[in-house]
Amino acid sequence: MTPLRYLQAYPPHLQEQVRQLIARDRLGDYLQQRYAQRHDVQNDKALYLYAQDLRQQFLRSAPPLDKVLYDNRLDLTHRALGLNTAVTRVQGGKLKAKKEIRIASLFKDAAPQFLRMIVVHELAHLRERDHSKAFYQLCQHMEPDYHQLEFDLRVYLTWRELPGIA
Ligand SMILES: [Zn+2]
Repeated sequence: MTPLRYLQAYPPHLQEQVRQLIARDRLGDYLQQRYAQRHDVQNDKALYLYAQDLRQQFLRSAPPLDKVLYDNRLDLTHRALGLNTAVTRVQGGKLKAKKEIRIASLFKDAAPQFLRMIVVHELAHLRERDHSKAFYQLCQHMEPDYHQLEFDLRVYLTWRELPGIA
């Protein structure tokens, strides 16, 4: 059996469903039916505004974002699709923590639902550092379909790496 490296945390029966779709050459159809759209958040400025808008809506009291950008160095080998950092810099003789969110560039050319999912994920880290229960509750508060979207994103990542794709 092929290991599904993006789906290892899911129950065997769900992994099996994905394997079946691959075996029947239907995984592309599954994704196409649900995630055919593309979004127009195509540069860092647009991404910043997009994230800022979600933060305003759901996380008003969280620290403001200094920077949000697409990063083509974030690769999947590190299993990092997004990154959340507080970079400490000296500013006017004082230490100031800058909040930065980096989103893997692959999301530029992806369905709007996947972009929303990853931005929601990184925004939730402004409040909750770990992937705790509270973290996922916050994700779901911002995007009620969060769990399905994370699963389908992982299906999408699996599909991208199938032989003969891309
Ligand atoms: Zn995370």
